[in-house]
Amino acid sequence: MNSLQVSKIIPIFPWGHEKILIAGPCAIESQETLETVASLLQVCQWKFLRGGAFKPRTSPYSFQGLGEEGLKILNQVSHAYGLYSVSEVLAPEDVALVAEYVDILQVGSRNAQNFSLLKKVGECQKPVLLKRGMMMRLEEFLLAAEYIAEKGNSNIILCERGIRTFETATRNTLDLSAIPYLKEHTSLPVIVDPSHATGKASYVPPLAKAALSCGADGLMIEVHPHPQEALSDGEQSLTLDQFKSLAKDLDCANQY
Ligand code: PEP
Ligand code: MN
Repeated sequence: MNSLQVSKIIPIFPWGHEKILIAGPCAIESQETLETVASLLQVCQWKFLRGGAFKPRTSPYSFQGLGEEGLKILNQVSHAYGLYSVSEVLAPEDVALVAEYVDILQVGSRNAQNFSLLKKVGECQKPVLLKRGMMMRLEEFLLAAEYIAEKGNSNIILCERGIRTFETATRNTLDLSAIPYLKEHTSLPVIVDPSHATGKASYVPPLAKAALSCGADGLMIEVHPHPQEALSDGEQSLTLDQFKSLAKDLDCANQY
């Protein structure tokens, strides 16, 4: 593993070394919903707004996202609130379009070994947030990141989002040991997504705290003004109040 580029590259992000604290709805649903979340992030000093415009849904009959219209909303809202934007790109042919509107391209769990997509985002100038595939060993995760680095893009964020195990009580199983392992083998930031890892809003705050205690460089958390009405992943989305309280707790913990 030591001969890999990902073990040597030092990323240079536009935001410097600050913690990558990302939150937002699973999917971009409307300008109004996104603005509500963005104004809360601004208050809590979380600098990164997420929202999917192209959604990888298990069922073809589930909401697939607003597509380019969603990207336009995310672009407009993130600029208005001074936030960096993060959105998923599903296909190599969409990379140029998504890169036109967002600051960070997300490659999701289901696409973590889509090598043509990895190469395409590697050719792009924008930072890439690579999520661990749900069945991926850490060595494979680093090799997926290597596809991006090998094309010349060193600005990669690694995201642990839970893996599939025999346990079904939670949506996935959060692998906290991924954090020290990935940090030992690379200088890339490692962030944790406790929303997709657990699938349940009440489990998100404790695991978010655990991730930071284990050395994570950031978090990605799903938030929705009305989770019960969300078009995707409502069960794991924090309400605005729940998010505010978590952000406050984390802030206090960071004081010393
Ligand atoms: C997401 O972040 O909305 C998402 C689909 O995540 P994952 O790829 O981890 O399932
Ligand atoms: Mn989601």
